[in-house]
Amino acid sequence: LSERLNKAIKNISGQGKLTEKNMNDMLKEVRMSLLEADVNYNVVKEFVENVKQKALGQEVLDALNPGQMVVKIVHDELQSLLGESDAKLHFKKHGITNVMMVGLQGTGKTTASAKIARFAKEKLGKRVLLVACDVVRPAAIEQLQTLGKNIDVEVFSLGADVDAITTAKQGLEYAKSRQKDLVIFDTAGRLHIDADLMDELKTMKDIVAPDDILLTVDAMTGQDIVTVAREFNEQLAITGLVVTKMDGDARGGGLLSVRSITDVPVMFVSNGEKVDDLEEFHPDRMADRILGMGDIMTLVEQAQDKIDMDVQKRAVQRMNEGVFTFNDMLDQFKQVKKMGSMQKMMNMIPGLGKLSGKIDDEQVNDGVKKSEAIIQSMTPYEREHPQCLKASRKSRIAKGAGVKVMEVNRLISQVEQMQTLMKMMKSGSMPNMNMLQGM
Ligand code: GDP
Ligand code: MG
Repeated sequence: LSERLNKAIKNISGQGKLTEKNMNDMLKEVRMSLLEADVNYNVVKEFVENVKQKALGQEVLDALNPGQMVVKIVHDELQSLLGESDAKLHFKKHGITNVMMVGLQGTGKTTASAKIARFAKEKLGKRVLLVACDVVRPAAIEQLQTLGKNIDVEVFSLGADVDAITTAKQGLEYAKSRQKDLVIFDTAGRLHIDADLMDELKTMKDIVAPDDILLTVDAMTGQDIVTVAREFNEQLAITGLVVTKMDGDARGGGLLSVRSITDVPVMFVSNGEKVDDLEEFHPDRMADRILGMGDIMTLVEQAQDKIDMDVQKRAVQRMNEGVFTFNDMLDQFKQVKKMGSMQKMMNMIPGLGKLSGKIDDEQVNDGVKKSEAIIQSMTPYEREHPQCLKASRKSRIAKGAGVKVMEVNRLISQVEQMQTLMKMMKSGSMPNMNMLQGM
């Protein structure tokens, strides 16, 4: 999958400017990538269109690194579609909170019921009751009872001969008599949605009056999930999602589709067969996963390094010519700003890496701002000819930049030092010369 996306990033990187055309290539790859992650076609279409609008708007702002910019927009957009990270169960202030688990067969309802029960008991100190309302598969009751024993949570069941509705009703009564705080109703699923199942769930909803109805969404299911989720949501008004089987290698694109059609938050992530394999939802991680982004970010960084190398090569060329002027200094500042840190910049220059730890980036930034102001007060001629700066020019520049003449002097002497260094490098008397040429 992400191979193609990688290629698109490589193509777009180093082009300096984001054009409609190269962004289209990139977006085509994003579209493919999402489709391969099993995101629904219509969702993909809308998503890509959104990203395109946003990217076009930002073109001028951040044209330095188009590949990274597009990836970031794609990622942010995905993340915002996936939604908030801190959705919580709707606990009642007083009395018993009821939660219904719903979903297709095999999506992980029973497992998640137990996991959430354990979570509520251990982390929230709730008195929990599990109610076994899946009477279709006899093994389901036993499964829940085994899980309940594991986590030391009581399981209510009337056996497979009593229907789900009656079980739910009596489960409620039982919970009241035992002063429980939280009742989780594990329900039956089907392989496909059918009217019988929906009727049963609706009746159960009327009786139980649940505070939450959680739909389990198997990270491994494909595009069908859209129909399923829409149906469950329309019939039952679900309040939260539990994404299951996130420990597998599925990219989980189905969740994106579900999120975009239901607008219901993800409350839990189930990522294993053990009862404690339950996590909070992290939209950023999920976005990475759906895009297959781990490798992509690495590639973006590599592409970024390549751009930096080009700038460096130019700088080396100037060095070889033995020149260094205020314009070169401005270039350096630009580079520092782009990299966000002088330390990083130093690390890239052979021989200076070990000094980088001694640098206070904030101090450097202030210095850079002041130096830029000084250079900006110079005429183009002065910038290229530092040696012409005599007293009257200096005081004019100092006034223009709002600094003392002393500070202008300091900057001049910095440029002079660099010039000396450049000349030394040109003559080959610096040990690092060969390394720099080899770049
Ligand atoms: P239900 O039919 O919806 O109740 O689904 P179950 O809870 O019985 O789960 C179906 C199968 O998926 C069982 O074998 C579970 O052990 C397994 N399962 C459920 N959740 C997860 C999960 O998060 N990760 C993995 N690897 N397996 C899971
Ligand atoms: Mg089950």
